[in-house]
Amino acid sequence: MKSNTRLWSQLQRAAHARGFSTTSRRLDNYTFIGLGQMGYQMARNLQAKLSPSDTVRLFDINKAAMQKLAEEMKTQQAGGAAVQLSQTAEEASKDADTVITCLPEPQHVKSAYESILRGVGAPKDTSSRLFIDCSTIDPSSSREVAGAVSSALPDAKGHFVDAPMSGGVVGATAGTLTFMLGAPESLVSRIEPILLRMGKRVLHCGPQGTGLSAKLANNYLLAINNIATAEAMNLGIRWGLDPKVLAGVINVSTGKCWPSEVNNPVPGVVETAPSSRDYKGGFGIGLMRKDLRLAMLAAQEADAKLALADRAKEVYEEAEKEEQCKGRDFSVVYRWLGGKE
Ligand code: NAD
Repeated sequence: MKSNTRLWSQLQRAAHARGFSTTSRRLDNYTFIGLGQMGYQMARNLQAKLSPSDTVRLFDINKAAMQKLAEEMKTQQAGGAAVQLSQTAEEASKDADTVITCLPEPQHVKSAYESILRGVGAPKDTSSRLFIDCSTIDPSSSREVAGAVSSALPDAKGHFVDAPMSGGVVGATAGTLTFMLGAPESLVSRIEPILLRMGKRVLHCGPQGTGLSAKLANNYLLAINNIATAEAMNLGIRWGLDPKVLAGVINVSTGKCWPSEVNNPVPGVVETAPSSRDYKGGFGIGLMRKDLRLAMLAAQEADAKLALADRAKEVYEEAEKEEQCKGRDFSVVYRWLGGKE
């Protein structure tokens, strides 16, 4: 506890040393909660592109991540919003106009919003508070949180929208993410400029929850395409084909897909693909397994039959158990299949 307090003082000192504001402003305040692989980079881009009259408050249960980000912002060029560090999600969001969350799983999103809604009150003027959740969770959980926000901030004083993203850590770092937005039409013009500080494209998919539905449908397809590509490549190579020749044929034919063209699972076929660097980096097999699980859950709720999902889930689960596959890019299923490397 003592060391936490000490760390906390250090964080505050780091903020002061940069001339970061530590006094609260009533309006034009942003809050960013969840500074993991994605959120850290997104918050950095957001802060850098806001004006010095804006404030960004940061919160993560991992205090070291906050400290590191504050220090990195210190070395950033002049300009950008003032930064405040918070001890709880509640404290971070109580005066915020816009709260952005980027958390791992539905339970983390629910628990963060429990804390946020404990502290946040309705703005006294005609404005409303905006909550943008960029986490990949299931649409039902997202709608549940949206309902809690509407109940806590009635009369349209609070709006919760879903904006899951694609582009990975590379896109988050470069500020080139694509966001799939689930929000009422009337809010799009308010949300878009905020998201465009962290990405390059916002695809409005429909009302709240539809951003997640679009994201999960896409990632379901990706989960299957990835396994099928690994199988087809393994098959062709075992029949005696050169891997590059086979990929070249597929990529101008009807089997062409993102795993065959960009993220080919066979090492050496695409030099920039994770397979060519021992499947390191890229989209972790654990995240793929998680998205597949969420897609299956949402499919069940919609009574949509998925013929391939159960087997695909087993493949990712089995592959993740193997030491040489665990924690690597999801194209590592090629290795799990026993493909030649
Ligand atoms: P991550 O696990 O790296 O980071 C999550 C962060 O949330 C951690 O820093 C953790 O300490 C923090 N956290 C957890 N519970 C918290 C709470 N209650 N309050 C405050 N902070 C809390 O995850 P990530 O890779 O940044 O992914 C975030 C979301 O984005 C996930 O839903 C993921 O599926 C999705 N996503 C990830 C990628 C990717 O390539 N990593 C790509 C697209 C989408």
